[in-house]
Amino acid sequence: MRVGLAANQLHHAHRDAALFRWLRQAEPGIRELDLGLHAVGRTYDAIESEQMLQDYAPLKRYPYGRHGGLMTLVAEVVNTGDGEAPVLDGAIYLIDPVDPSSIFPEATALKRQCVIHHKPFVSTVAGAIDFLEVQRMHAGLAPAPWADRCHAFAEHTVALIAHDALKSKMLDFASAHFDLLSRFARRVATGTTGQRLNELAWSRGWPQETPWVQRYQSGPMGGDAQIADLILKKRCQRAIFFEDPHVARQHEADIQLLDRAVATVTDEAMCMTSPAVAQRWADAAQRRADLTGAA
Ligand code: PGA
Repeated sequence: MRVGLAANQLHHAHRDAALFRWLRQAEPGIRELDLGLHAVGRTYDAIESEQMLQDYAPLKRYPYGRHGGLMTLVAEVVNTGDGEAPVLDGAIYLIDPVDPSSIFPEATALKRQCVIHHKPFVSTVAGAIDFLEVQRMHAGLAPAPWADRCHAFAEHTVALIAHDALKSKMLDFASAHFDLLSRFARRVATGTTGQRLNELAWSRGWPQETPWVQRYQSGPMGGDAQIADLILKKRCQRAIFFEDPHVARQHEADIQLLDRAVATVTDEAMCMTSPAVAQRWADAAQRRADLTGAA
């Protein structure tokens, strides 16, 4: 597996910056998996000068952002492997929401193409830790203690949001992983998604008087902004957001607000943006729970 790697300037500016907080925990797991990391110039240079991932051949250097490094990552996420060009299986882009480059077109396109091609787009330290553990679980490795925090579902809130074209996928996902999702301390959702999820839960025998998810406003009426606020206040750790990248969204600003809230609390929160990515996470989480007896 190969992923693109970039971090905004703040996130590699000093020893304890986000990139290094992740690598310090993740380096053994990265080596175990032989995970390809295709890093844009400044991010690569920072890793090198911190003397991390030394002599690790799957770490590749791409040009600086100003020379098109991030743009190249976008094209390689789009590639499907039927040509000569390299293929990336996803991207880790540690975002500082107030860094102007985090909303450059190539940054927005990187996320969008990951969503379109059902590949993971990881924007936070917590998400990067979780991502690595998902890959480790699928590789048949033993649960890593450094990832325990991401799997303490009984202490966490999960947000479930789906745009209209993906609502049936969300219902399929919730149905397939109902027990796993029910293990969270709390579930929240935007209005319409939440209504459909509660109906699903009731049809499965969830007590009629208790909502399975707490519903906020419908997305276009501000539900995404309400859930973003929960995330900022560290009252929601995981958003599972099935975005429709193929339509114009009248509440685009709210959707980006939610992304930016997640990135603001980078050590606490994460967002998964497509059914395929969420499915892979859920399978890994279930396997981990079975192995650790957390079920
Ligand atoms: P909805 O909102 O669940 O109320 O449809 C989702 C969204 O559009 O963000």
